[in-house]
Formats: sequence, C-alpha cells, structure tokens
Amino acid sequence: MSTRSLGVVIVGFGGMGYQHSLMISQVSRLKLLGAYDIKAEAQEKAAKSGIKAYPSLDAVLADPAVEIVLIATPNDTHKDIAIKAMKAGKHVICEKPVCLDSTELAAILAVAAETGKVFQVHQNRRWDEDYLIVKKLYDEKLIGEVFHIETRVQGSRGIPGDWRRLEAQGGGMMLDWGVHLLDRITVMIPGRIVQVFCKLNFPTGEEVDEGFHVFLTFEHGKTVMVEVGTRNFLSLPLWYVSGTMGTAIIQDWTLSGRVMTLQTIENMDATPIVAGAGLTKTMAPRIDETATEAPLPRVKADVCDFYRNVIDVIEGRAKPVIKNAEVMRVMKLMETCFLSDKTGQVIQFE
Ligand code: NAD
Repeated sequence: MSTRSLGVVIVGFGGMGYQHSLMISQVSRLKLLGAYDIKAEAQEKAAKSGIKAYPSLDAVLADPAVEIVLIATPNDTHKDIAIKAMKAGKHVICEKPVCLDSTELAAILAVAAETGKVFQVHQNRRWDEDYLIVKKLYDEKLIGEVFHIETRVQGSRGIPGDWRRLEAQGGGMMLDWGVHLLDRITVMIPGRIVQVFCKLNFPTGEEVDEGFHVFLTFEHGKTVMVEVGTRNFLSLPLWYVSGTMGTAIIQDWTLSGRVMTLQTIENMDATPIVAGAGLTKTMAPRIDETATEAPLPRVKADVCDFYRNVIDVIEGRAKPVIKNAEVMRVMKLMETCFLSDKTGQVIQFE
C-alpha cells in the first residue's frame, strides 16, 4: 500500500474548518497544505495554525499539490465550490448538509461522474458512540426486535451564528441537525420509508425552522420519531429505544443510560394499582425479578476512519462508507419533511 501523503486544502476556515484541521493532523496519509477563507480573520487563524493561507479559491485549485478540497463553508456555497473543484481535477470532501436540495445534489453528482473525481460528504455523526450503541442493540437484537425509536437533540440557546438563521444560506435545524439524525436512522433501519409526517417549529419567530418533530413509518411497521429543539430548557434522552424484549435509554453525550431487558414473561394478569385518580392493571409496575437492568454496551469508534475511507476510495481499494445514494435519499427525505410541514399531510415517501 502506498505511503504517499495526499495534499488537502480546507475551504472555509471557521468553526468546522478548524476542527477538520485537528482531525486531519491525526491521519498520517493526509497532508494539510493550507486553507482559504473569504474572511481576513479566518485567514489569519490559518496562518497562526501554521498552515498556508491561500489568497483565493482559484489559487487553491491552481496548486498541483492539492489533491483534495475540503469544503467547510456555509451550506449555500457548497455546490459551486464542489463543482469548480472537481472540474479543476480535485477530489472533494464536503460538509453536511451536502447542499440545499436534491436538484443541487444531482448537479454535483453529474460533475463527479463526468470528471471521475471522488465526492464524499462528511456525515461524521455515523461515528458517534451513542448512535453506534443503538445500532448494536438494533443489529444484534439485544432488546429483541426494535419496533420504535426516539432520537433527539435538544438545546436551549436558539439557533447560533448568523448564516444558520438565514433561509438563503441553508439555515435552519432540519438542514443542520436533521441531516445527521435522519442519515443515521436511514442507514441503521433497512427497508422503505412509507410515510413521513413533519412539524417544524418557530418558537421565537426566526425565518428558518428552529426545531422539528418528524415521524417516520417503515414498510415493516417500525416507527421512528426524530426531534431537534433549540428551546428546550430541560432535556429528554438522546435515545429512547423500544424492543420487544427490552428498552434502552441514552441520556446524553456522556453516554449515561441503561438497558432494561425482560427475563421471563410473568403472568400478565397483574394486580391493579391506584394511579392518579384511577385504577390500572396495564401500567402496574412489573415484578423485579422478571427484568434485568444493565449498563449500555460500549462500541469503540474513531471518526478519523472517515478520512481513511476517503483515501481508500480515491486509491480504488474500498467502497465509500458514506454512499452518495444515501446522501441523496436523505436530501429527498428532508424535502419530504418540508412538504409535510407545509401541507399538514402525511406524505407517502417510498
Ligand atoms: P462558520 O460560520 O464557523 O465557518 C464558515 C466559514 O466559511 C467562515 O469563516 C466564512 O468566512 C467562510 N466562508 C463563507 N463563504 C466562503 C467562501 N465562498 N469561500 C471561502 N470561505 C467562505 O460555520 P461552521 O459552523 O464552520 O459551518 C461550516 C460548514 O460545516 C456548514 O456546512 C456546517 O453545516 C458544517 N458543520 C458540520 C459539522 C459536523 O459535525 N459535521 C459541525 C459544524 C458545522
């Protein structure tokens, strides 16, 4: 296997561009050559980080040492930069959301096909351990057959930054966080998504969605509720996973949580309890010995494997982990969410 380093330049050296520079430094086969940003202070930050600040995008594209252009600019700029870079003979790593809609994505993928350049989207949250724990529970049926999942992220500070609040720049929480949560669900659960219902929310009156609830129904009847909130002063768990033989909760990114698994199916005819102003058998607590509580399983993951896979794809050794067909499916799913919100209807998706 080659040990040659591939030259990378980061376009857009803001929050995520800088984060990429830290991650790239951990990947031995990548050599960070520099960055380009339209803002002078970001250019200075690049120079202070010890990398070259390119004076323009054209200068980046004219440099034969640059093999990969990594795009970490606001969402509305991804398409044009990606197309220009591939036409200049560069491979592209692009931040999520890949672009604003499926028409833009089709244009990008057409240029990738025409130029033969690799185009890969940074869906890094597929390497989040909280997700990988749920995927393990799901794949290995550790709580039986999973039939319903709630996945959410909740903050209380509203939408941060400037461009994230602007529709024209691809702001809003569906494109920002929805793209991650929907991506993970669509790769974890096989099968067609038959129905989509979405309600966006605008609690402080921003022009873009400040959060949303999405309800998905798969062809086999499994259901998923996806929620993003930016006005939640108390947080619900990141994951609540319901299986036929157990339930799992992941509370937060520290991975506090637990799994409760059914051991024996006891006599279902429980003694009724007084609950609130009424009586219930259905909601009576179960007998302790019939269920076992365990800590969450742990799964090791290294997000640098994303970059390593891109190198392998470029050198023809591997298939992409993040497939462009999956990225297109999620883009169309987000478009369907917007349509559902606008019409108030459940939409038949696939
Ligand atoms: P940011 O505002 O912190 O940084 C964006 C930078 O791009 C700014 O410095 C800006 O000056 C620069 N820029 C704007 N237009 C440009 C252009 N045409 N050419 C060169 N530079 C340009 O935003 P951010 O939070 O870093 O987000 C950037 C991208 O990264 C977005 O697409 C966002 O969705 C994505 N992102 C991904 C993750 C993740 O975990 N995958 C996390 C945060 C952001």
